[in-house]
Amino acid sequence: MDVKEKLALNRVRNDEESHINIDQEKCRECSLRACLFVCPAALYEKNAETGEITVEFSGCLECGTCLIACPRGALKWRYPGGRFGVQYRYG
Ligand code: SF4
Ligand code: SF4
Repeated sequence: MDVKEKLALNRVRNDEESHINIDQEKCRECSLRACLFVCPAALYEKNAETGEITVEFSGCLECGTCLIACPRGALKWRYPGGRFGVQYRYG
């Protein structure tokens, strides 16, 4: 079983409100765009029209990598509220 197959077995109970907030002003001045490359679930995207960075928080693995990798402190990140978030099957 490869990593993708293992990840597909995880369960996520989605909160209505995102646990990740992005400061678009800081992103506009960012040339690194690390969030687009480091997320193991590839949840970050750059909107082709507006240039804004978006995150599909419902698939978050709660690893915290994006928070550490962002060089401009543009992310506000917290764990999803009680009963919500990812449930791992393979650690
Ligand atoms: S790395 Fe941080 S500042 Fe740069 S685009 Fe991503 S979230 Fe914005
Ligand atoms: S915490 Fe991990 S899985 Fe969630 S958005 Fe950040 S890098 Fe992606």
